[in-house]
Amino acid sequence: MPKFEYAPAPESRAIVSLRESYGLFIDGEFSPGADGRAFKTISPATEEVLAEVTEAGPADVDRAVTAARKAYEHTWSQLPGQERAKYLFRIARIIQEKARELAVLESLDNGKPIRESRDVDIPLVAAHFFYHAGWADKLEYAGYGPAPRALGVAGQVIPWNFPLLMLAWKIAPALACGNTVVLKPAETTPLTALAFAEICQQADLPPGVVNIVTGAGETGRALVTHPGIDKVAFTGSTEVGKEIARACAPSRKKVTLELGGKAANIVFEDAPVDQAVEGIVNGIFFNQGHVCCAGSRLLVQESVYAEVLASLQRRLATLRLGDPLDKNTDVGAINSAAQLAKIRELSEVGEAEGAQRWSPPCELPVKGFWFPPTVFTGVSQAHRIAREEIFGPVLSVLTFRTPAEAVEKANNTPYGLSAGVWTEKGSLILWMASRLRAGVVWANTFNKFDPTSPFGGYKESGYGREGGRHGLEAYLDV
Ligand code: NDP
Repeated sequence: MPKFEYAPAPESRAIVSLRESYGLFIDGEFSPGADGRAFKTISPATEEVLAEVTEAGPADVDRAVTAARKAYEHTWSQLPGQERAKYLFRIARIIQEKARELAVLESLDNGKPIRESRDVDIPLVAAHFFYHAGWADKLEYAGYGPAPRALGVAGQVIPWNFPLLMLAWKIAPALACGNTVVLKPAETTPLTALAFAEICQQADLPPGVVNIVTGAGETGRALVTHPGIDKVAFTGSTEVGKEIARACAPSRKKVTLELGGKAANIVFEDAPVDQAVEGIVNGIFFNQGHVCCAGSRLLVQESVYAEVLASLQRRLATLRLGDPLDKNTDVGAINSAAQLAKIRELSEVGEAEGAQRWSPPCELPVKGFWFPPTVFTGVSQAHRIAREEIFGPVLSVLTFRTPAEAVEKANNTPYGLSAGVWTEKGSLILWMASRLRAGVVWANTFNKFDPTSPFGGYKESGYGREGGRHGLEAYLDV
């Protein structure tokens, strides 16, 4: 059969006007850092330098926390919920107005396909602000008593896989509940957080309610250990999450941690194969597998293993990898050289430990950071690729015979963030869901997110919930 070729369909980047350099957003204004240090943020698809960004040191973090404290005490905590809601609604509408610009900027700085930033990330960002705007004047109905109080100043540290979405998950509930924030975006993806700072200015948000301090791990450390912080919210690796938990343990800070995962996506023999294959692809190749709840372990019932694998391989051969700004691209760039090195290393370990590696024929661009969609078969539970978070487009396939064995294998991980179940039987879905130790269990779907739905983990995937009524608890003194 002749194959149709896609014509290039690039999204124009003209809508984005980048500044050469960015300061820190503190007390409602952009200002230089105290010691003049800066770093460059690049496009992972081309290695082109996009802008220079200020590296905040401890003195800058202190200035940001002081601004947030002042804004909390004199402005934000004094406002009735209805007034806070107006600001959040305004921010949500500006995000919608700027959706295309934000999507292009996110794809440039992160490497994710424009289709994803345009259709998933940015609409969800706006949805989070709309949803939490709705809560701001209804907190007494959230189930935490008649007049729940805010905590104060929140220090928030986020990763690079969903830069603006993770910002929304952190800032929207914090502000709705009456807290002020200092947020540190990831070193490799600061640009949409800085664009958000401009949105706060446009929305006339009172100075100091939102502060953005850019920098690397040291800036994050200075923020979460600052004595003026009342609440720490972190999303990132389990290793750094543990360090933060240790650092905050002697203090009165309230902490929520959203950490790594090694989710099982479980396909039973009665599942519709084509739909399950779409779910497997979405589970692990969405966002290049840079997803904490990615379905990185596929558990297939032995009787349909050959059929599912063949169908999956056929489907993977149709994925288009390349320019993140091309609207036909399915798989974009790996976010950084460091992450690419980690994915390569663990994939080599997978081969060395005896698993079979497969990728569809796939030409990788010469510049930038790229890794082809990869499937490992013959994986045993002891293999590192079955146990460790690879955080890349790499799927490990295992098999099972009975539901009990599937539960046993799915739960055999230090993590517990998410899981997927594919079957036609509702009773089996409920039976599985009640036994899987995961914060989210998707049935006949995967990677579905909604601001009304709480998200969070068990075990080493962290603690606390984000989203929904449950997520408000993290920002209230209850
Ligand atoms: P990190 O956990 O190091 O980064 C997450 C955020 O924390 C970033 O903003 C980072 O800054 C900051 N940070 C780093 N060290 C500290 C510290 N000591 N105190 C406070 N903040 C800190 O993840 P990486 O980006 O290094 O990725 C490493 C691995 O973590 C990945 O390969 C992946 O496996 C996993 N990961 C998991 C995520 C998840 O959602 N589950 C998200 C991201 C990564 P900076 O970016 O500047 O280093």
